Amino acid sequence: MEEGKIRMFKKMLEDQLSELAQSGEMTLNGLKSEEHNYADPLDRASVNENQGFMLHIKNRESRLINKIRDALERIEDGDFGNCEVCGEEISYKRLLARPVATQCITCKTKLEKRERIFGT
Ligand SMILES: [Zn+2]
Repeated sequence: MEEGKIRMFKKMLEDQLSELAQSGEMTLNGLKSEEHNYADPLDRASVNENQGFMLHIKNRESRLINKIRDALERIEDGDFGNCEVCGEEISYKRLLARPVATQCITCKTKLEKRERIFGT
């Protein structure tokens, strides 16, 4: 892939990473401040529910953060944009939509079909 495009993807990934880091802090602060505000047991229950939801989001966020870090590592290693399964280049359009993609659309489609069949 061209140097300029790589640089652009790197910037995209870094921006996304810092955004996630910021929203992650907000989620944590939200969890802390809500704990003090409700003495009522009913409110407590909804707070707990809310916390579960936020933790769910946090898990998703941290998985995404890991993916972004991996992608940045692949940029450093010069592997970025190559499919980890077949080694072909992942299309530019696909990477624009999903810079953390590690598989070309052909391999990804095959994998998804297999996942549907075996339910994993
Ligand atoms: Zn592939």
